[in-house]
Amino acid sequence: MELDEQVGKILAYGEICDHCLGRFFGKRSHGLTNDERGHALRVAHEIQGNTPHHEHEGPCWICHDLFDEIGGWADKVVASLSGIGHATFLIGTRVPPLMAESEEMVWSDLGLTGPEPLKSEMNREVGKAVAERTGKAADLAHPDVVAILDLSAGTVGVEITPLFFRGRYRKFERGIPQTRWPCRVCGGAGCERCNFTGKMYADSVEELIGRTVAEAFQAADAVLHGAGREDIDARMLGAGRPFVMEIVAPRRRGADLPSLEQAVNSAAEGRVAISIDGWATRAEVEILKSEKAHKKYRISVEVEGGIARNELEEALDRLRGALIAQQTPARVVHRRADRIRERRVVDARVAGQEDGIFFLDVVGEAGLYVKELVSGDGGRTRPSLAGLVGRPARVIQLDVLEVEGSRERE
Ligand SMILES: [Zn+2]
Ligand SMILES: [Zn+2]
Repeated sequence: MELDEQVGKILAYGEICDHCLGRFFGKRSHGLTNDERGHALRVAHEIQGNTPHHEHEGPCWICHDLFDEIGGWADKVVASLSGIGHATFLIGTRVPPLMAESEEMVWSDLGLTGPEPLKSEMNREVGKAVAERTGKAADLAHPDVVAILDLSAGTVGVEITPLFFRGRYRKFERGIPQTRWPCRVCGGAGCERCNFTGKMYADSVEELIGRTVAEAFQAADAVLHGAGREDIDARMLGAGRPFVMEIVAPRRRGADLPSLEQAVNSAAEGRVAISIDGWATRAEVEILKSEKAHKKYRISVEVEGGIARNELEEALDRLRGALIAQQTPARVVHRRADRIRERRVVDARVAGQEDGIFFLDVVGEAGLYVKELVSGDGGRTRPSLAGLVGRPARVIQLDVLEVEGSRERE
């Protein structure tokens, strides 16, 4: 079908605006707006058929003259974004299904090959108008904020892109979980068991860091993604555990990271401390989660009936480098699949001794259950320290000294 014949058929559907007419041929010829393209096609068709000129007089059967309201939509976007720090933005549009169906019907009726959807013209035109009003740039790939036009409701919703930074945390106090732990009884709603906090523990590493972070960025929340986690009753010492913090819906984006580090550490009052390495991306969260970092533990161990240092060292010689077969520990089997994992003990040495208690430094592959490596877990972990010395042994205290193999500090 010739172009002019297609234009004639489109005009025969009903009263249509230049935007919608031009958009059916949106991918033909560059450097024109759909409005200009539509007007030119209308005029060319009239000259071709030698019929009187007829300007569009609304309402357009497809868009109901939506494009007359570009300025009004841009004003709504500017109002919705006021008070939200951003350098770049993107416009999205929720198009009512009937409106989309109208133009799609024409595409398929006429077999059009290069139409542009209404949604993308709306996004672009409102985006241009917003950029004019604010001097800010539209960014299709990584906008700081996305404003979503809801055409049916006449409203603008705002999604603020999260920010991420990476660092390491140390935890100096036992009994603090890494992340928030909802109350088992009420699931977070608040009940007598949890003193109406909704939480099992008053504080977490996530909150001790996140409260200051959320405040600094005027954010809705701050979520900690750790490279593994230590037990609640273990401290995290040494260089600290790598983490990425996700700042949810920040209304401020600029922050000086060294000052933030100071503010977090002063607010955490020596219970937790962080060092910040720099800004990060969501992709780094995935990398962090998948890294098979070795972990170094300092544990204190008690062997029933006592043990001589040389006997202990002989047992550690045999554990060093050994592949340990661990059936899911009895203490966690109620919430994890019961299966056998194999993890290597990279290193195991005596670090000191006091009143019959030995301090051991153990380096294990990610996922090694260290408490069970010592106790044998009733035969579920083999070999084990208890198994090798032939009597019960247990971990009294455990600290994580180091998480290795993760990104080096820059
Ligand atoms: Zn229209
Ligand atoms: Zn509760």
